[in-house]
Amino acid sequence: MTLATTLPYQDSALSISERVADLLSRMTVEEKIGQMLQLDARDDLDDHVLRRMAGSILHTSPERLIRANELTAQTRLRIPLIVGEDCIHGHSFWPGATIYPTQLGMAASWDAELVEKVARATAEEVAVTGIHWTFSPVLCIARDLRWGRISETFGEDPFLIGELASAMVRGYQGDGLADPTAILATAKHFAGYSETQGGRDASEADISRRKLRSWFLPPFERVAREGCRTFMLGYQTTDGVPITVNDWLLSDVLRGEWGYTGTLITDWDNIGRMVWEQHVQPDYTHAAAAAVKAGNDMVMNTPLFFEGALDAVARGLLSSADFDAAVARILTLKFELGLFENPRLPRDEVDAVVGSAAHADLNLQITRRSIVLLENDGTLPLSSDAPLRVAVVGPLADDAQTQLGDWAGGSGQAGWLDAQPREMITTVLDGLREVGGWSVRSAVGADILTFENGPDDLDPVPWDRKFVPAEPDTEQIAEAVALAAASDVVVAVVGDRIELNGEGRSTATLELLGGQNALLDALIAAGTPVVVVLMASKPLVLPASVSKASAVIWAANPGMQGGRALAEIISGAVEPSGRLPISFARHVGQQPTYYNQIRGQHGDRYADLTQSPAWAFGEGLSYSTVAYSDLAVESAALGRDDSVVAHVTVMNTGARPVRETVQVYVRDAVTSVSWADKELKAYCQVDLAPGESARVRIELPVADCTIVDAAGRRLVEAGEFALLVGPSSRDEVLLSAAFTVS
Ligand code: BGC
Repeated sequence: MTLATTLPYQDSALSISERVADLLSRMTVEEKIGQMLQLDARDDLDDHVLRRMAGSILHTSPERLIRANELTAQTRLRIPLIVGEDCIHGHSFWPGATIYPTQLGMAASWDAELVEKVARATAEEVAVTGIHWTFSPVLCIARDLRWGRISETFGEDPFLIGELASAMVRGYQGDGLADPTAILATAKHFAGYSETQGGRDASEADISRRKLRSWFLPPFERVAREGCRTFMLGYQTTDGVPITVNDWLLSDVLRGEWGYTGTLITDWDNIGRMVWEQHVQPDYTHAAAAAVKAGNDMVMNTPLFFEGALDAVARGLLSSADFDAAVARILTLKFELGLFENPRLPRDEVDAVVGSAAHADLNLQITRRSIVLLENDGTLPLSSDAPLRVAVVGPLADDAQTQLGDWAGGSGQAGWLDAQPREMITTVLDGLREVGGWSVRSAVGADILTFENGPDDLDPVPWDRKFVPAEPDTEQIAEAVALAAASDVVVAVVGDRIELNGEGRSTATLELLGGQNALLDALIAAGTPVVVVLMASKPLVLPASVSKASAVIWAANPGMQGGRALAEIISGAVEPSGRLPISFARHVGQQPTYYNQIRGQHGDRYADLTQSPAWAFGEGLSYSTVAYSDLAVESAALGRDDSVVAHVTVMNTGARPVRETVQVYVRDAVTSVSWADKELKAYCQVDLAPGESARVRIELPVADCTIVDAAGRRLVEAGEFALLVGPSSRDEVLLSAAFTVS
């Protein structure tokens, strides 16, 4: 049956709430349950749309998107589909889209404005292709570096995460959903997902409510209050309760305390997982009933939610009205996006917008800013005028797809493409060859993994491949060493691969795998200066020989412009300015290494190793040097409603321009409960010419100098504080000024 006349819900002159109420009143219970479903477009689309009446699809190829819309036109109420996708650092799975550095890479820019521009540009590419909703950004706090999803985070600090996540949400959602270039943002994975056991993915998050409130929830609270339209519920359980049915987190905190009115979506098959994985529900009937009662709106990829929920209604566990709140929220989004009038199918301008030159330029800008110079004995920058012989070695020097990282063409989540176009990607080898005057030669030198079934028999899904670390290959190493001996400088590009990065791909170690350590040892021993480029999804542990390398650079998977930006930095065309959003361990056994740890332990080192990280949060070098001096607070006696106002002099004492990230931490001298020794509270970036100095003004509301007390309340406690200002989180480089709060 089709509807001939215009019904109230089809009348765009009515208000959205009137249209929602009208449509809801016409829906059968089957249609309501179907509306809550978001199903995998790679499966049987006819069944999804015509039988289960799904309200949404995800993971759709361009062709299947059109097909799905043809199918909704055959349904009774012709409710348009809302289409979701993981557009995580660019429009990940659209062939020819702009792929930026990973979230962790972008975080090293510490530049919220630039991150917002990236999200805006991504939204333009996504929206023009008929997709309405991205499952981004990730607000999880990086804790244990063994976790496979570190590259998806903005790093380890809740304040920096909040700044960048908020920027990304603004960028995606643009001027509001009526804007045809706006897409829905998703804050994920709510909450505590990254508090793993031993870094293992989606394991029980053993975390107290106070700890959640202290560090895990603040970034989520910020974007909830700022209007992030959707939240995704993580996989994990806490205190025995899956987040999907965690009444305290969903009802008391998110919807209650924060007044959140947005839409909730489960993670992939969370409702099924309660049955088959976590064994906390006996069947889909009870799982569906529990999920609906807990306030879930959209159910990602649990097809049997349909049958389970219907059965729950038949057995009296749920009534038809129990679905109304969720369905109303989903319909409201669809009306706000204007999908009933215009389903926002792929538009003709796709080719002009996706992968445009303007976006490539923006990508180059953020990539330059995402690269962190960790060590430099003065070898860098290399003179681009000198006729240098440059040896480019290492397994990642010319590996275009690995450079893109997870959630990109070759990372395996999408079946319709296995790579992004090679010609859009500049590898390090490509980039160095573009530097005029140098003669560039290359050797692989080492492999990272070998595949059990041989390279010609690979499972198309990277994480299903059976691999073992490659053995060091003496011939490969000898070839690289011979090339090094005939060169003026070596650029060695080492790191990890997609098989070692991502969901379900946590690592037990943090070492460089395969022949890479042996390669670095041999190259560094050979005597030609070696610049180590670590192209790794997350902080890895470098071999001891690297302490004798000339320079070390970290480029988290740097995206399509990675090689170009690296070459510009190596050749000094661009100044390095990235700062670590995450600490690097010296050894996997130091986990966790995040800087903002709770005070109180016996001693400050292991019997066999320091606890100090290899490189700490906030660190990063420039080609110049910067001196901090004369930190002074205007008034040292403050009330709770005041602001700490301070000034510090920052001087470029070197010979090259600098972009300095001035970091402001607060230490609360005595707290009623144990607390982090210091926390980042503000930062700013200043550009200084050689010899130039600036008096930087810092203003920080006392209201931000909080702790969370034993009862879980966030408050400012009276007493003494220290304002710590400097170039990183390391105590030894921070200036300190005292203030008291009464
Ligand atoms: C991930 C989410 C992602 C979803 C859809 C899940 O496995 O945890 O981050 O958005 O899949 O692809």
